Amino acid sequence: MKNLIFQLLDRSGLVRLFRALKQRRAVTILLFHDPSPAAMEMALAYLTENYRIISLATYLEARKTGTTEGLPDYAAVITFDDGHKGNYALLPVFKKYGVPATVFLCSAIVDTQRHFWFLEAEGQLPVEELKGLSNQERLDRLSEIGFEEQKEYATRQALSAQEIGEMRPLIDFQSHTRFHPILTNCRQARVRTTLQGAKQKLEEQFGLSIYALAYPNGDYDATTIEETRNAGYRCGLTVDHGFNDDTTDLYRLRRLDVNDTCNIHELVVKSSGLWQHLKALRRS
Ligand SMILES: [Zn+2]
Repeated sequence: MKNLIFQLLDRSGLVRLFRALKQRRAVTILLFHDPSPAAMEMALAYLTENYRIISLATYLEARKTGTTEGLPDYAAVITFDDGHKGNYALLPVFKKYGVPATVFLCSAIVDTQRHFWFLEAEGQLPVEELKGLSNQERLDRLSEIGFEEQKEYATRQALSAQEIGEMRPLIDFQSHTRFHPILTNCRQARVRTTLQGAKQKLEEQFGLSIYALAYPNGDYDATTIEETRNAGYRCGLTVDHGFNDDTTDLYRLRRLDVNDTCNIHELVVKSSGLWQHLKALRRS
């Protein structure tokens, strides 16, 4: 049913109209997680035709000068959250299209055999419900299925240091905290240690220059923003839908979650922001 809706919206001309009105003079930031190389090939073939892919740093540079006027029409930034192992297999596709991307890493999970809690919980615990619990309650529930943040498993889920090194010439790596807690459910001291700790480790051990944070699950509040700024990050990325211009709060950058899909109609509709816009209209 949803597929049919995406197809109809794609063909209706609404996407084109919405893009011309809302997207042309703004910067769109897209969010992927762990797409297959085939899905990424399809996505980049479409995106490079219909957007001008710029780096996150280019947008921030423009903001520093006070205006994004010099940026191209339909500028878009491609981002990935978590630092999934599968991201490495996307490198040839990015090389082929010669476009930049930013990958947000969990500093305590990359280059280890530790697991992402939400992947471990999948099928065993109600993940969405866990996201609403206090940090300690969430960890307690996870320990019921044998999950521990520090535990090393037989399989690797995140990128290795070597893979990160190989991707670095083209791919920008930034911070997604240490273990992917829901920051708004953490005490302030923990927010501080995970934000500072991730930045420090990624810079010292991986030689990266960390200026951006993607809030896990897109969740943030005033304390999160205060700590993000104090830890030395120059911006914070949410999953609030919409576009970014000269006036967007740098600690509330908007991103469109486009789903790691192989379906072209869904990609066309979601990358335009129309889908998220219609969903918000329905809610209000
Ligand atoms: Zn994440």
